[in-house]
Amino acid sequence: MSRKLLLILIDGVPYRNWRRLFGNLEGWVQSGEARVWRMRSVLPSTSASCYASIHTGVPPQVHGIWGNYAVRKLDLPDVFSELARAGRRTGAVTHSYWSEFFQRAPFDAVRDIEYDEEAGPIHHGRFHTMAGYGHDNQMTPSDHDLFATLTRLCEVKGIDYGLYHSCTLDSMGHRFFHDCAEMDHACYLLDEQMAPFIHRWRKAGYEVIVTADHGQDARGHHGGAGDLQQDFAFYYFGESAMPASDVILDQLALAPSILTRLGVAVPPSMTATPFLEG
Ligand SMILES: [Zn+2]
Repeated sequence: MSRKLLLILIDGVPYRNWRRLFGNLEGWVQSGEARVWRMRSVLPSTSASCYASIHTGVPPQVHGIWGNYAVRKLDLPDVFSELARAGRRTGAVTHSYWSEFFQRAPFDAVRDIEYDEEAGPIHHGRFHTMAGYGHDNQMTPSDHDLFATLTRLCEVKGIDYGLYHSCTLDSMGHRFFHDCAEMDHACYLLDEQMAPFIHRWRKAGYEVIVTADHGQDARGHHGGAGDLQQDFAFYYFGESAMPASDVILDQLALAPSILTRLGVAVPPSMTATPFLEG
């Protein structure tokens, strides 16, 4: 039986918040079911630039997504395109930017808010736009509901690879910063909401990665350089051999690692050495 994998991206969570506030994830590290590394984002450590790099394995200097205001369809091989070409089933429960990068752009809310399309490369897409997002109104769906939606794609649609992405904690960080009760509770709540779903996905045979796209500094900022803005935790529930625990993983190696783990050829454009084994 071929492997199945879920990539859970929690937007904008710095390394220090992962390791001190996500008690269920840390509990699984302690019990040995999960392992954890530090991963470093590309530069700029801006969300859309990171999304494009996470799934294409190439840096912003190659894919040309310089920030959040020029989202367009990318003309590069990515995790969805290579899996779909190899006959594997893909799903996404994410911000609409992911549909624009990898399925089609611009995003038409009625046409694209959800789709089931045999042509792929995203076979089953469930999206949200956060239209109206601002400092005082996050416009994020509940993570509980998004986790349930991804689970539907696993159990009803039988996806081999699923991408989850939510901006809840990135928005909280921009709004409240990090040394406050609001952020303590937001991380605590997301960890509690996610845990039963991780348990269910593992029982269904999925390997699971939980990580971020970038960090945030003490003022909730990111986009630039340095460990607070660029670094986040990388939790892996699975059996692959991995680098030593003190190695800082390269975000550009994530795409070829996912393809390698799922037994699909890595395209020549993805030049970073995979850290997961086939
Ligand atoms: Zn982000």
